[in-house]
Amino acid sequence: MLDVTQVKELRRIERYDNHVAIGAAVPLTDAFAALVAERPQLKIFANRFAGLPVRNSGTMGGNVANGSPIGDSMPLLIALGANVVLTSVRSHREMPLEALYTGYRQNVIAPDEVLAWIKVPLPVPGEQLKAYKISKRYDDDISAVCLVVNLRVAKGKVEHVSIGAGGVAAMPVRAVQTEAALRGQPWTLATVKQATATLRGEFQPISDMRASAAYRSEVLGNLMQRFWLESQGLQQINLENFDVKELA
Ligand SMILES: Cc1cc2nc3c(=O)[nH]c(=O)nc-3n(C[C@H](O)[C@H](O)[C@H](O)COP(=O)(O)OP(=O)(O)OC[C@H]3O[C@@H](n4cnc5c(N)ncnc54)[C@H](O)[C@@H]3O)c2cc1C
Repeated sequence: MLDVTQVKELRRIERYDNHVAIGAAVPLTDAFAALVAERPQLKIFANRFAGLPVRNSGTMGGNVANGSPIGDSMPLLIALGANVVLTSVRSHREMPLEALYTGYRQNVIAPDEVLAWIKVPLPVPGEQLKAYKISKRYDDDISAVCLVVNLRVAKGKVEHVSIGAGGVAAMPVRAVQTEAALRGQPWTLATVKQATATLRGEFQPISDMRASAAYRSEVLGNLMQRFWLESQGLQQINLENFDVKELA
């Protein structure tokens, strides 16, 4: 048995010209801090991952290797285009994070391999990134649905899009059909309506104690619409923009 939290080589965060490499045993607090340093809009999403004690003791590598379909790191990392590096005494191999999973809590990590690095590309100009977590409680609760959209528009058309989703399949997933429905299309309400329908149909979520299958599909599409509205400047639909004192 190997306690990776004692392996100092796996507790490093390294910055390169085009990406940040997060060691698999870096605590979630520090891993999210590295991501927030590059993308400040992720701060609220990061703070909604479990609570402080779990973020201080759990690692991002543990969250990824665990492969829970409702884990929060993975939809974010998929949308960011992250790669993972698996290492053994034989060799090492690198793959897109979503390629790690083969089914419910199943992955391609061989018995003699460890997850060593999570490599996250740095933001590029024009990147629009939003991470949405839907859970029953605001704090210290795991997602019913998670959607992270990373989109870039050039000359009115969707030039790049990557979408990670949680809570809608047996494993964390990339919404490839929805990405295809958006890529190269004009960034308009009509395109978003089409993408919303595609997204709702792309996955067959289950009903459980956190949410029904119908709720999950509905919310998934609603989050796509929310992304559109926010891209058009509508910010007041964010819970965090409400001042509780003002409402009282
Ligand atoms: C109260 C509470 C609230 C929580 N809320 C959330 C939440 O909001 N969002 C969320 O996503 N999760 C949440 N979780 C789950 C928790 O954060 C994850 O389980 C945690 O990230 C796991 O990290 P760990 O380092 O403890 O992994 P471990 O539990 O040590 O490992 C998990 C699995 O991954 C394997 N593993 C670990 N590291 C490696 C590696 N480097 N290479 C290969 N295999 C490896 C282990 O062998 C094990 O099978 C919550 C948990 C609790 C207790």
